[in-house]
Amino acid sequence: MTLDLHELSLAAVDDAADALDLDPWLRELLHRPERSLAVQVPYVGDDGSIRVVPGYRIAHSTARGPAKGGTRFHPDVTGEEVAGLATLMSIKTAVMNLPLGGGKGGVSVDPKQLSEQELESLTRSYARAIAANIGPDLDVPAPDVNTSERHMDWIADEYGRITGASSPAVVTGKSLAAGGSHGRDTATAAGCRAVILASLERLGLPADARVVIQGFGNAGSHLARLLAADGLRVVAVSDSRGAVHDPAGLDVAAVAATKAATGSVADHDADTLTEDELFALDCDVLVPAALEGAVDGERAASIRARLIVEAANGPLTPAADAVLADRTVTVVPDVLASAGGVTVSCYEWQQNLRGERWPAPKVAEKLESRMAAALHDTWRVAEDRGVGLRAAAMVLGVERIVEAIERREARDEADDIAS
Ligand code: NAD
Repeated sequence: MTLDLHELSLAAVDDAADALDLDPWLRELLHRPERSLAVQVPYVGDDGSIRVVPGYRIAHSTARGPAKGGTRFHPDVTGEEVAGLATLMSIKTAVMNLPLGGGKGGVSVDPKQLSEQELESLTRSYARAIAANIGPDLDVPAPDVNTSERHMDWIADEYGRITGASSPAVVTGKSLAAGGSHGRDTATAAGCRAVILASLERLGLPADARVVIQGFGNAGSHLARLLAADGLRVVAVSDSRGAVHDPAGLDVAAVAATKAATGSVADHDADTLTEDELFALDCDVLVPAALEGAVDGERAASIRARLIVEAANGPLTPAADAVLADRTVTVVPDVLASAGGVTVSCYEWQQNLRGERWPAPKVAEKLESRMAAALHDTWRVAEDRGVGLRAAAMVLGVERIVEAIERREARDEADDIAS
């Protein structure tokens, strides 16, 4: 299901702006990106031909710090989509209270059709095309859909060649050898786990709560493993080929081994479920960790979980949100629940700037306490305003960005007076 992320992000910003009674000029600022770059990305095919695809790098806001956000390689990437995702990144970094703004990038290409050499040529060409708009103090890309540490290593290397100096802090999500951080690969899952544990406590749900996870990729599989180790019962998981269920709790390691061997959790020896049955399962916590738009109004009406935690970006449609708002289901929104990745990205950037390498336990402790703090801040706004956690997170994020914009304006005025 495709959602218009740009429209949705603008509507969410508008709602928060209404709640905060923002001046029209601030609303205007938040509506459009600060900097928008559309580029042509030529790259060399294995047959020697030169191919050209469109690319983007958009900084929505740098009021709180350098823009921060992933780089998506996908045939459906458009400037509008990237702008919408950049807006959500500004909100995400602000909700997490990180010293960063929000940005996003992408190339409209199907990377699955490309060889390793073609991918490298494409990524390095993209890095050259956006080099003037990125930098450790300006805009710091990271991996997103279909990009990973090798792409980030290529971008860091290409940027270093252009500037003549090694600047690992220009991108995050790098390999450890190239200056990456411990804990980056499991950061989204670890952040989500922290949010789930803190939410269970707040809602008075049992410590051995029953969890259903849709999606068994990077986010979902690590999360399943972490929660099982915490003593929660992972009663069902799914991937694009199917779902498996055990009311007593699945053996997550065995499910992961099956997926590694056959390519799907559906081959694991347990009861199978349809996708609709998975969402309607009797459980305490439901974690959509697959694709956007997974839960529409109809599916939302069937949900029996008490807590929904959005590990994926945008898994609930607005119709689903409306259905759930009428019921006593707590929804921890994506801008908070899936912010573990950008938080450890921030730690990687800070380590690179300071020439440090933090041990894995330090990264894990900092992440856990920051996720819990962000959840508590959001919950406080929700209670104060009598709204759900999604609206509260938007208000909290927009409020923090606006405070930074106003501080910047006040500084500029003071400079004018002094000069
Ligand atoms: P991934 O590609 O590693 O995994 C996605 C999983 O979803 C796969 O197991 C796939 O089989 C499954 N899937 C696809 N369609 C499905 C369906 N209809 N039913 C059930 N499962 C289905 O991706 P990921 O990195 O784990 O990301 C998942 C979500 O989390 C995305 O929305 C992503 O934007 C979000 N997210 C990821 C990160 C990160 O660092 N990995 C950070 C923030 C947000």
